[in-house]
Amino acid sequence: MLSYVFRLYPNRVQALGLGRSLELCRQAYNFLLEKLNQQSLSGKNDVGVVKHSIVELKNARPEFNEVYSKALQPECDRLFSNLRSLRQLKKNGKKVGALRFKGKDWFKTFSYNQSGFRIEMVKSKKGILHLSKIGSIKIKVHRPVEGRIKQVTLKNRLGKWFAILITDANPKRVHGEKVLGIDLGINNYLVDSDGNRVAHPHNIDKHAQRLALAQRDLARKNKGSGNRKKARLAVAKVHEKIERCRNDFLHKLSAKYVKGCRTIVVEDLDIVGMARSARNARNIMDSSWARFLQMLAYKAASAGCELAKVNPRNTTKTCSKCGNLREMPLWQRIYSCGNCGVAMDRDYNSAMNILHRFLGRVPALARESPSTLVGQGGSMKQETTFVERLAVSSDASPFRGW
Ligand SMILES: [Zn+2]
Repeated sequence: MLSYVFRLYPNRVQALGLGRSLELCRQAYNFLLEKLNQQSLSGKNDVGVVKHSIVELKNARPEFNEVYSKALQPECDRLFSNLRSLRQLKKNGKKVGALRFKGKDWFKTFSYNQSGFRIEMVKSKKGILHLSKIGSIKIKVHRPVEGRIKQVTLKNRLGKWFAILITDANPKRVHGEKVLGIDLGINNYLVDSDGNRVAHPHNIDKHAQRLALAQRDLARKNKGSGNRKKARLAVAKVHEKIERCRNDFLHKLSAKYVKGCRTIVVEDLDIVGMARSARNARNIMDSSWARFLQMLAYKAASAGCELAKVNPRNTTKTCSKCGNLREMPLWQRIYSCGNCGVAMDRDYNSAMNILHRFLGRVPALARESPSTLVGQGGSMKQETTFVERLAVSSDASPFRGW
């Protein structure tokens, strides 16, 4: 299944209609939940009764006929899917409460399943989304849709409306032939064992400044005032912008690696008992890394590319050339080995170690007798060139090489 998100441009009447349907679907959801609670109280667990109660609702309150009938059905599915995930959590030993009734701020989408919608293209990217009972809304179809549309979900995000189209298309992802180790770091977003390095996305810093401004602005507004409400929306908008920039960056980066690789090797970060302190820049990056690894995982799976995880122990401290161990404080950018004399970028060294660990390769020189460790000028020269290559590339586009 492939999904697309397109912006909608409803006129005032259509926006009201969308809002009205959203509100009625919310009420329907809460009504169904109430039914479900009654069911479980009386000891019965009849899904059919809950499903059928939609008819009851419509008879009792005719305004529910304003909503496209099949838009109410997904609310039932949503309820049961929420119930299932709650039970799953419980099974996994999580402490969970009961399902809650949804307040206005917690209900942002409703769906048309199978029917009641149609998209008509007017110009290259301009289209009309016909929605039964709501009307014909302008939609920006910014990329071609593959497959048949199975469901349209309408979403309100900070006052803007979006249509999420779910199609039956099978995304055909392909993988490449490289086998790469990837080191996620603080100074670079990542460095791989081919020597490519990807800087941290700068646009996020830029928005972080805007966020600080907006938050300061918000703090100055009087509580309960209309201006405060506006300022709060402004803060939410910057947050959303940052979120989208970051996701865009992570999607493109993970897609790039899957496209180029047969196997991608990363550190298994779950098993590191990383000391959690707010002062550690690493912690701020954690969530972004976790999301990146998630994206790598599902993209790799759909392309048939292998994502391997290796033990991260000492990947920074080990010399990838000879296997020697040394301390590497965070400020030290170059790994210079006291044993074999190699000098290379710290993150590149880690990426090589990660790759070696997967391949089961012991660094070449570690296997040789100590006498051969004298006079490794040749390899050292080679690595110095590499460090220079990295230095030159630091300002270039994030995706260097392939
Ligand atoms: Zn060494």
